[in-house]
Amino acid sequence: MMTRRGALTGIAGAGLAQAGAASAARPQTRRRGSGTPAIHDVAVIGAGVFGVWTAWHLAKRGASVAIVDAYGVGHARASSGGESRVIRLSYGADPIYSPMARESLTAWDEVSARGREPILHRTGVLWFSPATDDYMAKSVEWLAANKVDHRRMDLAALSASYPQIVFRDGESGFLETRSGALIAGRGVRAVLADAGLEAQTLNAGPPERDAGGAYVVGPDLKANTLVYACGPWLPKLFPQVLGGRITPTRQEVFHFGAQPGDTRFAPPALPVWADFNGGELVYGMPDLEGQGFKIAFDPHGPVVDPDTQSRQVTPAGVAQARAYLAQRFPALADAPLIHARVCQYENSSNGDFLMDRLPGHDRVWLVGAGSGHGFKHGPAVGRRVADHVLEPKTPIEPRFSLASKATRAERSVY
Ligand SMILES: Cc1cc2nc3c(=O)[nH]c(=O)nc-3n(C[C@H](O)[C@H](O)[C@H](O)COP(=O)(O)OP(=O)(O)OC[C@H]3O[C@@H](n4cnc5c(N)ncnc54)[C@H](O)[C@@H]3O)c2cc1C
Repeated sequence: MMTRRGALTGIAGAGLAQAGAASAARPQTRRRGSGTPAIHDVAVIGAGVFGVWTAWHLAKRGASVAIVDAYGVGHARASSGGESRVIRLSYGADPIYSPMARESLTAWDEVSARGREPILHRTGVLWFSPATDDYMAKSVEWLAANKVDHRRMDLAALSASYPQIVFRDGESGFLETRSGALIAGRGVRAVLADAGLEAQTLNAGPPERDAGGAYVVGPDLKANTLVYACGPWLPKLFPQVLGGRITPTRQEVFHFGAQPGDTRFAPPALPVWADFNGGELVYGMPDLEGQGFKIAFDPHGPVVDPDTQSRQVTPAGVAQARAYLAQRFPALADAPLIHARVCQYENSSNGDFLMDRLPGHDRVWLVGAGSGHGFKHGPAVGRRVADHVLEPKTPIEPRFSLASKATRAERSVY
């Protein structure tokens, strides 16, 4: 098995040279037997939310799929690890992400219903901001035009419905009534189980072919097509192609504990909430499954390495969270910090995802750049990648193309 060190030292010389290599003809798939390693139709590398949903769609559509992960499924260092993620349909006037989120909400709901434990908690998602905010107005327009259940609230209605939150003069909001929260690490594992798949622990390197043209992923694993869904590790694996185009940033998450018996910060009293202040987004969760009231700041933190970054939150981060609580959720200002987590976003320059071929390899796909909002979209991303793999003429969405990935950060997707 290739070690991570082995994989990484091999990368520097591999990227563009490999990217420039001509693609071989598709080899015949051989099934297991007589000591010959199976050649799968597809090997998915990375069992985060994009990888598992890609594998799910491919398996449901009859492809023979293997999935591998360097650290296992839904692990603590993955961008898809940890407790919870927001699933909301509002994306301003963006024509792509709201429909993708809607498609994904249905798929998450179905997997959640089939599993032993819930993945989707339909707590609702409450948005609030200055009433003049254009993104919010456009979001409400989209919800109304697409007949998505929601409730608009002026300041009086917000204050009456959520007395545990301090709203400011001039603010208004709306509640997406059917959206909510996804359980993250458990959700990723549930998707894989739902597909009847198990992930192999294996640290894959950049694409290598055998004499017959099949891709060699590990000692016992070959495939005709590769999908690299490696999240924040993509620029480490493909530095010449993605270095500077996907940037992992450090993000801290805090869980505070309410007083015993205080139900104001748990569903149904409190939904998922997002304080959208012109993109200076602060968001959080009610106490889900006893994990405490969660709060996080969406602006990008320092650039980090997902393998080695410290997973301890900073005193400055805790102080920032407490200062925010004192203003918006004063009853929690002195609440104990019961749990905290450090994760990373894997940002494209503007927040758009990546779903495109590795240059020079028509059967190798790069999938990632979730950019802090990718989790909810796992089902729709996986479906799109499966379309590309199974129907190679499916056009690449220009916004998800490699060519659109710039190196200068200009975030436009929230
Ligand atoms: C703090 C935080 C809050 C977030 N909040 C939200 C939210 O509320 N709503 C939302 O929709 N999204 C949210 N996101 C974003 C979302 O979680 C990510 O966009 C998404 O999880 C990315 O998934 P991924 O599959 O691309 O990457 P990952 O989950 O990181 O998966 C990539 C996997 O690839 C594996 N891998 C890497 N290299 C190799 C290799 N060489 N060989 C084998 N395996 C390899 C890794 O081990 C990893 O498991 C949040 C992210 C963070 C960090």
